[in-house]
Amino acid sequence: MRLLVIGGTAAGMSAAARARRLDPSLEIVVLEKGPVVSFGACGLPYYIEGRIRNAEQMVVHTPEYFRKQRNISVRTNAGVVSIAHSRRQVSVEGGEHERYDRLVIATGARPRLTGIAGEALPHVFNLHRMSDGQRLRQFIEEKRPKTALIVGAGYIGFEAADAFRHRGMRVAIASLGFDALNRRDPELTKLISAHCERFGVEMRWNTTVQSVEDERADVVLIAAGIQPNVEIAREAGIETGRTGAIRVDDRLQTNLACVYAAGDCAETFHLVTGRHEWVPLGTTANKMGRVAGANAAGRRERFHGIVGTSVLRIMGLDIGLTGLSCEQARAAGFNPVEARIQAKSKPGYFGGRPITVQLVADRGTRRLLGGWVAGEHDVAGRANVIAMALQARTKVEEFEGSDLAYAPPFAPVWDPVLIAAQQLVKLLD
Ligand SMILES: Cc1cc2nc3c(=O)[nH]c(=O)nc-3n(C[C@H](O)[C@H](O)[C@H](O)COP(=O)(O)OP(=O)(O)OC[C@H]3O[C@@H](n4cnc5c(N)ncnc54)[C@H](O)[C@@H]3O)c2cc1C
Repeated sequence: MRLLVIGGTAAGMSAAARARRLDPSLEIVVLEKGPVVSFGACGLPYYIEGRIRNAEQMVVHTPEYFRKQRNISVRTNAGVVSIAHSRRQVSVEGGEHERYDRLVIATGARPRLTGIAGEALPHVFNLHRMSDGQRLRQFIEEKRPKTALIVGAGYIGFEAADAFRHRGMRVAIASLGFDALNRRDPELTKLISAHCERFGVEMRWNTTVQSVEDERADVVLIAAGIQPNVEIAREAGIETGRTGAIRVDDRLQTNLACVYAAGDCAETFHLVTGRHEWVPLGTTANKMGRVAGANAAGRRERFHGIVGTSVLRIMGLDIGLTGLSCEQARAAGFNPVEARIQAKSKPGYFGGRPITVQLVADRGTRRLLGGWVAGEHDVAGRANVIAMALQARTKVEEFEGSDLAYAPPFAPVWDPVLIAAQQLVKLLD
């Protein structure tokens, strides 16, 4: 039995590694278009900042490691150009073929083309692959740019802004609308915007950048969204969903027998909306990869779905998000109510700092639908608590009574997420 994996990053290598663990007799081959595998793009902003010294530190394992330690054959610089499912084989750049019995597609995503004039100029960058990061850092170290323009107010844009500031640059962020982190939450956008301005980052909301040549920036980063790499799958007859990413069932199988898809190229089931959505994140890609790998190795495992939890740091402000904003909930057919509170992360005498918590619930069912936490301490843990509540389809009243830990070094006696829940209960009554 031969398992072929297309794409050698989070989802692809997780699939290969899991399949190997479950079936030592499988022949496993990974085909990766780029020069490295097992690369964590999440480290790129910190590599630009300089906190990560060498790009190699972002590579978890080498092809040699997989060959020697896992008996997985990895071919780099081996981009797949087509899939012929009736013959159970793929064609690789250069004309070679590779046969498969089971196939996992883990081709990820790529930066969306924006149509901005001058995108190919030498001072204009994306931040997606390792080579993007290396080119950008080399440019910064050689040219010592003083000003930076970032196009896009998603998490990569904000993380890059932080990194550019560390490099001593004056930074501006331009965004088409008034929406930070693609959350459709004006209060969160205001909070982030004010924080960035406080740190000298100029926020240019409702701004269309048409040409980088019109901008007087020494370096330009285009971080205006990504799109799934689905072309070879589509051409092979693999269905994509409403979102444009590959449609999979709960075993992560595509519409073709023995062909699975995982990670940023695929949709996932969203436990709050009850629909298939496209939420491209590393945490999801790794988990989907494991399940796709297990099923490709003959197991029957389900991927239960996601609630879309993420966390990021922007100039000392941590923001953890999960589930839906009010507007997203409304668009998904709910009747949402939101509460937002400010509290202290722990008692004042223990150095507690302001923390903001927002929670959204459905008026009819009183079920929690989403929330975010923003502050300087213990944000991720609190966002994760909300995420677990969403996953368990918890009602606000149940959440309000959650048995969360208290001691002065960690939290106030009423944790901020519980204060937000109390507030939400009042609004619902
Ligand atoms: C700057 C940055 C910061 C991020 N930070 C976070 C974070 O903090 N937290 C988080 O959860 N997520 C984060 N992410 C997102 C995360 O990196 C991705 O969700 C994750 O890498 C997706 O993994 P993947 O394996 O599905 O796809 P990818 O990592 O995109 O890998 C796909 C691989 O497939 C290869 N490939 C594509 N087409 C072919 C082909 N035809 N033949 C062969 N190979 C092919 C590509 O070369 C690539 O190596 C970040 C992303 C970036 C860019």
